[in-house]
Amino acid sequence: MKSVKVVVVGAGVVGFSTAVCIAEAFPCCFVTLLAEKFSPDTTSDGAAGILFAAEFPDIPLVRQRRWFKDSFDHLLAIAQSQYSPEAGVMLSSGWQIFKKIPDDWKPFWSEFVIGFRLMTDRELKRFPDHKFGQAFTTIKCECLSYLPWLQKRFRKAGGQVQQRKVNSLQELSDSYDIIVNCSGLGSKGLVGDTEVYPVRGQVLKVEAPWLQHFIRDGDGKTYIYPGMHSVTVGGTRQEGDWRLQGDEEDTKGILARCSRLEPSLSKAKVLSEWVGLRPCRRNPRVEWELVQLQGRRVPVIHNYGHGGWGVTLAWGTALDTVGLVRQCLQEMPLQAKL
Ligand code: FAD
Repeated sequence: MKSVKVVVVGAGVVGFSTAVCIAEAFPCCFVTLLAEKFSPDTTSDGAAGILFAAEFPDIPLVRQRRWFKDSFDHLLAIAQSQYSPEAGVMLSSGWQIFKKIPDDWKPFWSEFVIGFRLMTDRELKRFPDHKFGQAFTTIKCECLSYLPWLQKRFRKAGGQVQQRKVNSLQELSDSYDIIVNCSGLGSKGLVGDTEVYPVRGQVLKVEAPWLQHFIRDGDGKTYIYPGMHSVTVGGTRQEGDWRLQGDEEDTKGILARCSRLEPSLSKAKVLSEWVGLRPCRRNPRVEWELVQLQGRRVPVIHNYGHGGWGVTLAWGTALDTVGLVRQCLQEMPLQAKL
């Protein structure tokens, strides 16, 4: 019998991954997902969805490695299954190129992607401004398909979904035993986190079916990611910029930079333009606390602040929240209800 009520706030890739993992792991929990915005209107929907990551400064590397590996293995299984087209998850091979050799030339995730190696001089000849490169196969996870697919999986596990803006956690404390906060940038208002801030990203979708390999400049600002139906080209990284409308200068800059890397792009038709705000933080917040709400101490589990790596790390951090829910169930008086 379902006797513990869990609410997950947020319907981006982090919220839905977390909700699915909790609903599938705990048959005793009745899980509801609440969010102001759903696909196709979340930040996650516009992300290129390429899997690799940067290192967060204060999180033990062993934990970051586990987040990456768990996410990669989960998505690889989907990419190699009959669910791949519906879920929008595919393998993607290509190059990350650098103007000078980076200090971290063999990143922590290099052993989890497929076939990581350094580029040969012959391969680098295509990129005369760049001196160094990495070649590997990773995954592209397109949230426009993946989020509806996760939503179906969540409902199958008994989960319920409601559209609603939550103004304060107090609103939830009467109806739920455990609150899971996956509200991304919304955590600034919802839990008063002053450490989370936006990094604006603008991307374009172009029609260039002849492009099969991704190309990413190691500066993180210029990239070309072929996907299932179009090619995502980008981008920008504008810290503290809350503008959600497209910027013409940014569009021109993106097309100029990407065409320099891949000249055939100057022939591609631009299909759409999109802006999203990365929910950045020095480190993602994946932890739980007891919060006094309406005279009661309620366990609140946080899972947000993934910055430019939310698609990459969502499944891994969602599995961590499963561990945190287990801890809450063991330590809280609510266990009497089980
Ligand atoms: P979101 O997708 O923003 O979802 C937040 C959810 O919380 C929404 O449903 C929202 O409505 C809800 N919410 C917020 N506040 C409230 C409230 N008060 N009440 C109710 N609901 C609330 N990541 C990668 O790994 N690979 C990439 O290639 C990549 N490319 C990117 C390219 C661009 C241009 C951008 C902008 C981002 C990119 N990212 C990429 C980063 C990725 O998009 C984010 O890390 C990820 O989307 C964060 O997911 P989230 O679920 O935390 O947040």
